[in-house]
Amino acid sequence: MTSSAKANDNTNASTNANASLSALPADSLICLYGRAVASGYAMGHAVVMGAAALEVEHYRVAEQAVEQEADRLKRALETTYAELAELANTLPIDAPRELSAMLSVHQLLLEDPLLADESLTLVRERHYNAEWALTTQGQLLGEQFSTMEDEYLRERAADVRQVVERVLHTLRGSQVMSALDGVSDSGDPLIVVAHDISPADMIRLRGARFAGFVTDLGGPTSHTAIVARSMGVPAVVALGNVRQVARDGDFLVVDGETGAVLINPTQEQINSYKQLASNYAESRQALLSIKDIACETLDGIRVGLHANIEMPDEVALALSQGADGIGLYRSEFLFMGRDELPTEEEQFTAYRSVAQDMGGRPVTIRTLDIGADKALDGEATVATNPALGQRAIRYCLARPSLFAAQLRALLRASAFGEVRILIPMITSLHEVQALYEIIGSVKRELSNQGIAYDENVPIGAMVEVPAMAIAIEPFAKAFDFLSIGTNDLIQYTLGIDRADSEVASLYDPLHPAVLRLIAGTINAGQRLGKPVSVCGEMAGDAKMTRLLLGMGLTEFSMHPRQLLDVKQEILAAHTNALRTKVAAALNRAETIEPEALR
Ligand code: PEP
Ligand code: MG
Repeated sequence: MTSSAKANDNTNASTNANASLSALPADSLICLYGRAVASGYAMGHAVVMGAAALEVEHYRVAEQAVEQEADRLKRALETTYAELAELANTLPIDAPRELSAMLSVHQLLLEDPLLADESLTLVRERHYNAEWALTTQGQLLGEQFSTMEDEYLRERAADVRQVVERVLHTLRGSQVMSALDGVSDSGDPLIVVAHDISPADMIRLRGARFAGFVTDLGGPTSHTAIVARSMGVPAVVALGNVRQVARDGDFLVVDGETGAVLINPTQEQINSYKQLASNYAESRQALLSIKDIACETLDGIRVGLHANIEMPDEVALALSQGADGIGLYRSEFLFMGRDELPTEEEQFTAYRSVAQDMGGRPVTIRTLDIGADKALDGEATVATNPALGQRAIRYCLARPSLFAAQLRALLRASAFGEVRILIPMITSLHEVQALYEIIGSVKRELSNQGIAYDENVPIGAMVEVPAMAIAIEPFAKAFDFLSIGTNDLIQYTLGIDRADSEVASLYDPLHPAVLRLIAGTINAGQRLGKPVSVCGEMAGDAKMTRLLLGMGLTEFSMHPRQLLDVKQEILAAHTNALRTKVAAALNRAETIEPEALR
């Protein structure tokens, strides 16, 4: 696999004539191109994962704990074997013959060295935790079976899956080392190679300290990409077939700038990338010099720069990049990747910690935006079209007790800082009415119980469904502030699934219809005295900064790592000139080239 340059015909290939392209070879390796969705460079060994493997915890076990972990796996294999033997012995006399045959096959599989011994080798040699080792090996074995010609053997792939599930179940009951305690820092960096990674899986992978992510599917505003950015881990998505091309253990370079993924590069190429990575780190460091400068355009317009976070522990990063506040805390990440819902108390603790850690700066917490590509564990998505189904506020209004618990937690946290509550996906005024009824009743309940909260806690709405942007006036009047979610606004305006790489090239933030909706919302906010921010990915794309300034935007919210790039643009911009140019283009519904605004 180290020879034969293979050009990927991926239509999403990056064409950036960026400096790092010069590091690419003309020969001797496989190079795939996808969409770079989280910047930076990563190098390390591939960990090729299937869906089942993604669903378990991943961590590397410290050297001294390896034998203990191998024992845990051995015991789980033995216990599962004993359970199956017991089942086989107690089968009723009239049980179907297939059942006892299946139990014997499962017992044989448990003893098969390809499953048992090889999984133990992964624990011992690669320091994988037991679950990770077992699912990796199970996947490999399952794939081998499923490609066999003999139909009987092909069907054994399903048995492997079932056996792995059983052992995982046993492992779940055994003593698990804390993911972070178990992480060994000594191993080489690892790069996850997957067909796709759901946002919930990304959260599970968060603690495992992977150096990069590469996937076959995905788009730049998919939640997978958003989480990768929030982890500060370079990622390339929409590679088409990386999971088939890369093998476990291959050495990869992930170029989060151009979207190139190099498989088993030469030493010379690795050296070039090391140089690029070090230049990149230096330029990030240099940008910090503008962190404490007031964020103002050349003509003196003050611009607020806020951070988007998914987890409370990201506050530190937001502050280190000079954020004026949290513009979007996606609370749903507290609900994902776990079996039970977080209690009101757990939510309160998380929201309060963000409010307190931000030290009086505004903290905008969005209520649960579950649905579409973000599902709760155990809740299989059955909607025909989840992005258009019971998502976000629709989901919450259909579950009043779940919603009330979150609102109670949010209101209680409002006594500890500048909390603002943001409601996703509002589409109709009926929802607004139902929302205020439930907020009113939660407030009354808290008052009756003598629990402190901010009675004037601002309530805002995401503008992310075109219906609301088009009929903006009554919505703007009903809320204290608005936040434009361009990721969904573009998806719903253009009818393009934001997570579907097949249509990613049609996902166009510069479509005149999208720009008119954004500009119209900003205008309405100014007329009605309601603050408007943009918190979708457009706000963090420095190429779009002048365009948004030209529409009159003065509040941006983005991933913390993008704050200083955008600030640099703002410091060099002249809003008056931009406003004239942008207004003229919008009037004519013309396409605007952001480069022309420089
Ligand atoms: C958006 O839709 O632009 C947004 C910020 O919310 P999310 O990406 O979480 O849907
Ligand atoms: Mg959204």
